[in-house]
Amino acid sequence: MYAVYIFGSIMAVLVAAVIFAPLIEGRWREGKGGGSAEDRKEEALANLRELEFEYQTGKVSEGDYATLRARYARHALAARDELGESLDSASCPSCGSTVKEGAKFCSACGGALS
Ligand SMILES: [Zn+2]
Repeated sequence: MYAVYIFGSIMAVLVAAVIFAPLIEGRWREGKGGGSAEDRKEEALANLRELEFEYQTGKVSEGDYATLRARYARHALAARDELGESLDSASCPSCGSTVKEGAKFCSACGGALS
C-alpha cells in the first residue's frame, strides 16, 4: 500500500516542479541584474511564441491570450526601441516583432506577413 503513497508523492513533486520551474527560472533571470535590452527582447519574443503555442493548444483563454499578447508585444517593442532598431526594418503587423526581410511568416507570433 505504501508504494501507492510514495508514487503519489513523487508525482506530486514532479508536477509541482513542472509548474514552478518557469517561475523560479524567471526570478533567477530577473536576479541577474535586469539583463540587456537584447535579452529582454528575446525573452518577450520567446514569451510570445510560447503564448501562441499555448493558445493554439487551448491552454490559454482568448481573454488571457489577448491581454498577455499585448503585454509581451509591448515589452518586445520597448526593448526594440531601446536597442535603436529602426522602424523601417520589417516588422510584424500583428505583434510588432522585428522579422527577417522577405520572410513570409512572423517568427514570433506566426502571423502571415504581406
Ligand atoms: Zn508577429
